[in-house]
Amino acid sequence: MSLDDITRRLRAAEIRAGRAPGSVTLIAVSKVQPDDRVRAVLDQGHRVFGENRVQEAAGKWPGFRDSHGPVDLHLLGPLQSNKARQAMELFQAIHSLDRPKLAQALARLAQELGQCPDLFVQVNTGEEPQKAGVAPSGADEFVSQCRALDLPVKGLMCIPPADEQPSLHFALLAKIAARNGLPALSMGMSGDFEEAVMQGATHVRVGSAIFGARQTG
Ligand SMILES: *Cc1c(COP(=O)(O)O)cnc(C)c1O
Repeated sequence: MSLDDITRRLRAAEIRAGRAPGSVTLIAVSKVQPDDRVRAVLDQGHRVFGENRVQEAAGKWPGFRDSHGPVDLHLLGPLQSNKARQAMELFQAIHSLDRPKLAQALARLAQELGQCPDLFVQVNTGEEPQKAGVAPSGADEFVSQCRALDLPVKGLMCIPPADEQPSLHFALLAKIAARNGLPALSMGMSGDFEEAVMQGATHVRVGSAIFGARQTG
């Protein structure tokens, strides 16, 4: 696989889904990948990347931005409130907003900094105890809490259970987004991004299919 292959498959999926070509954002998930693989994708002109950890991203992206110019960075992994400031300074989007305490911290910082990344509320569609995200039954209320704090919630994000049909989870996420008037859907990874596009994904998060297998993480 490569960036070109994935981009071609994404365009084909957009067309099959009756979506405008180029309308789905491809987030290249570079967590844990060696720098030379990330640089190769940057050299091909790609400028939208995803990371799971604030610390790891802070270690490598300032350098890549120096060498390659502006990059849209998306935080995909859990965010602790005490890292919220650093995350807001580094990332253009945060996909893991999932609890009131974090929402409050982001709202305070947004006031102070005069800006805020695009936010996605993470929904634990499979209600898995080990996974982050608000329960589907609590999503509407949490979205309104975030809106009451003036947070720029753009959409929802989910990571379906590994052993279940992802399409059911994508459909559930799309339904929750629609009834809350949220335009963005962050769903679909290496194994199921085409399916996610069929179900309305606006952002797909593809790691190993672009960069190759990860050593860890
Ligand atoms: C690692 C990760 C991805 C990318 O996974 P791949 O299967 O390598 O495409 C997408 N989303 C999240 C939240 C991740 O942690």
